[in-house]
Amino acid sequence: MNRLQNIDTYLLDLDGTFYLGSKLFPWSLPFVETMRRLNKRFIFVTNNSSQNPKYYLEKIRRMGVDITGDQVFTSGQATIYYLKKHNYPRQLYLVGTPALEEEFQEAGFILTDKDPQTVVLGFDLTLTYEKLRKACDLIRAGVPFIATHPDFNCPTPEGPIPDCGAMIALITASTGVKPKIIGKPYPEMIEALRAKYGLENPQTIAMVGDRLYTDMAMAKAAGIVGLLVLSGETQREDLAHSEVQPDLVLENLGDIVEALS
Ligand SMILES: [Mg+2]
Repeated sequence: MNRLQNIDTYLLDLDGTFYLGSKLFPWSLPFVETMRRLNKRFIFVTNNSSQNPKYYLEKIRRMGVDITGDQVFTSGQATIYYLKKHNYPRQLYLVGTPALEEEFQEAGFILTDKDPQTVVLGFDLTLTYEKLRKACDLIRAGVPFIATHPDFNCPTPEGPIPDCGAMIALITASTGVKPKIIGKPYPEMIEALRAKYGLENPQTIAMVGDRLYTDMAMAKAAGIVGLLVLSGETQREDLAHSEVQPDLVLENLGDIVEALS
């Protein structure tokens, strides 16, 4: 736990770590107060590209936590960074929600089904057969295929629902083409975070999350400190069978509060 003293930036997963669905965990407010008191930085990092940062900002503020827009980073933003960095043309076929469409348009992309140069797939809660068919036609014709994140399911209070990774599987089954994937645990996510927040010394940065194969795998890949919390998906028993091991296992964010007080 001594290692926590040296951490000055906490990258935080949202669902299962900071809240569950629309319920803030009781240790989340004390965590934020501790961060403020000790002048430590915290940034929410989520793979869920069905919403844009504006939505998360409002959701977290409604829960009584006062943060700024800069403190939220999504796989949609990382995908925009990746496309721009690699000079992808602006004409895209985007399979995503209206919130993701808005984000890409604000970033200067032109969303079109007429000769798009790239197909981008997000967690599309407004997915239709027509969109799937169009995306598959384009990918089969050789248009590059990029997906925002790999999660197969998204947790909800009513149970898991099919996420971007499940949609990738469908498109790949039809076309035989695997996409370039951007979100946690891939290095493109951490590269985009570095570009935005200038994360320099890996030993002073921690990724806190409830999933071994996204949150902790990204911490490993980036060489930063991985803090697993058991307040979400992962049970202590899962650790025995996991290739990815965290640097520390915590019950929840409250353990960080305790360690730093
Ligand atoms: Mg989570």
